[in-house]
Amino acid sequence: MDILAGNSKICERVRLMLTCERIPHALMLEGDAGTGRHTLARYIAAHCMCEGDSRPCFSCKGCHMTQIGSHPDVSVISPDGKQLSVDKIRALRQDAYLSPAIANRKVYIIEKAETMNDSAQNALLKILEEPPQNVIFILITVSAEKLLTTVRSRCITLSLLPPPRDEGIKYITEHTSFSSLEADRALESTKNNLGEALRLLEADEKNTVCELASQLLADIKSSNSYTMMQHLKPLEKNRAAIDELFEELLLKISALLRESCYTHIKEGLSREQLISLYEITRELRERSINNPNTLLLFANLCSRYKTAVI
Ligand SMILES: [Zn+2]
Repeated sequence: MDILAGNSKICERVRLMLTCERIPHALMLEGDAGTGRHTLARYIAAHCMCEGDSRPCFSCKGCHMTQIGSHPDVSVISPDGKQLSVDKIRALRQDAYLSPAIANRKVYIIEKAETMNDSAQNALLKILEEPPQNVIFILITVSAEKLLTTVRSRCITLSLLPPPRDEGIKYITEHTSFSSLEADRALESTKNNLGEALRLLEADEKNTVCELASQLLADIKSSNSYTMMQHLKPLEKNRAAIDELFEELLLKISALLRESCYTHIKEGLSREQLISLYEITRELRERSINNPNTLLLFANLCSRYKTAVI
């Protein structure tokens, strides 16, 4: 179980709970946003819904549905706006007494539990005091202290902390294509908050891909296909960034096409040329799926772009 960088004691505790099937009926996961509370909640839910031998296997239907948020026996309850209303908790309570739809048990993940007012918490308390069989409640909160003592006393609380820097770097480099230097910088600026560091890296990457797509279209007439390809090379091993690049290219070409209705020619490209570029991009995007030879794909893209604008 390496889903949480750092927090090794909590990982071990959860691993024991799951392997011995001694999962408490109510868990409270406290910690700052980005410390892995939602990841841990989903992991526990996947364990409960898994149909495989080594749970959670992350390859069966139960795990898959839990991961994409479509399992009928895993409910996520979040506040509407600033407050998690008592009505939502009452609805949860009614639902919890119904049998599971397809699994053997049900899981309720209550997000931002601290946004429940006293009435909502007391409504929840009733079911925590007399929980239906085979139902697990997972409360996620920034701080257990923000909930009523009576609610806290019914839950096993696990406190998640940001991981030490080296463990954060290890997690990022093992789970993404970012380098240790990039991981280190992102963790530095987010005070080791792994979730926020990952979001920051992804946002930076999106900007980079966006700039690359603009550059590619701007260079199309002035550069040769070899130079254009060199710009794309850093994306070679990054599947998500390649998908993003094709999306960006299609968006930008569509925008240029819309503008060309008024200005006729944009970026030195005629409307017909833009239409060809759009078709090439769309075709190669389809081909890029399941295509392991990224460099050949880039070479193909650049040379066909050049041919289209001659
Ligand atoms: Zn599974």
